[in-house]
Amino acid sequence: MLLSVVVPCHNEEDVLADLVREVLSTLEQADVDVELVLVDDGSRDDTVRIMRELHERDPRCRFVSFSRNFGKEAAMLAGLGYAQGDAVVIMDADLQHPPHLLIEMLRLHGEGYDQVIARRTREGDAFTRTVLSRLYYRLVNAMVDVNMQDGAGDFRLLSRRAVDSLLRMREYNRFSKGLFSWIGFPTITVDYHNVARQGGGESKWTFRRLLNYGLDGIMSFNNAPLRLSIYIGAIVTGLSFVYVIGLIVAALMHGVTAPGYVTLIAAITGMGGLQLLFLGVIGEYVGRIYYEAKRRPHYLVAETEPGAREGGSIR
Ligand code: UDP
Ligand code: MG
Repeated sequence: MLLSVVVPCHNEEDVLADLVREVLSTLEQADVDVELVLVDDGSRDDTVRIMRELHERDPRCRFVSFSRNFGKEAAMLAGLGYAQGDAVVIMDADLQHPPHLLIEMLRLHGEGYDQVIARRTREGDAFTRTVLSRLYYRLVNAMVDVNMQDGAGDFRLLSRRAVDSLLRMREYNRFSKGLFSWIGFPTITVDYHNVARQGGGESKWTFRRLLNYGLDGIMSFNNAPLRLSIYIGAIVTGLSFVYVIGLIVAALMHGVTAPGYVTLIAAITGMGGLQLLFLGVIGEYVGRIYYEAKRRPHYLVAETEPGAREGGSIR
């Protein structure tokens, strides 16, 4: 059996060699052949040079380098495409995904699970972030058709058929967490303790990026927000209709008395806000259709290891 370990890397020169060493030494305990698929996502530091060196020293280290930064989703997709293994693990470069877990994941895969999800506990996270993400998953799971777990990230083992299923989904706006859950297959979760980022550097997740990521999660799985806008729109229209009737009746009975300035402003601003909000929602979907319609590639490859072949999957 061949195990592929896919590692998306964006400016990871400090930690990459350590990670590769740890993964390879850990997997010596397991009865599998290993290949590493290192995906350079447009790093500006020496990441690619390190990948070349790693490949020269050990041809089991394969690599793909993008022409620019395309984002982690694209890097994971490329890695899955290049991986040739019978099972594929996706893990981060910064050692936040402990390599020792690979052994346990392989054991569970051997028991017949197609997806082994490594879920991290949230200890050590900022309190607000923990609370917000709990709330977020409540909300998302209530809204969309797939179920996403808090703390379950991209660190997971996938069987060949799970990988092939993921590769068949060529959508442009990829939200892997949802896609993993969408494909199904027997799935099991293992927990691990939170680890602080290695090799200095900040997490690349700014608040803004998290917010965008959160919106993607909701938008890419169904049209519940559009539904919601219909309901709210209907309720507001109904209420204002009743209100207007009331005003007309009052005017007929008592004549026009109040100048109605406050009501007018309230109605204009309220309605204006709602309309902008739902225009935004619709615009978001139209934008997505626009991107899908262009059918652009998810990433462009600038360099691979000499003689690289893509994996044996559907494309
Ligand atoms: N990453 C990537 N492209 C990006 C940003 C990040 O390939 O544009 C990689 C990064 O090198 C790392 C993983 O994705 O291996 C997770 O990134 P990070 O540690 O910054 O995120 P966090 O652990 O905070 O979720
Ligand atoms: Mg990290």
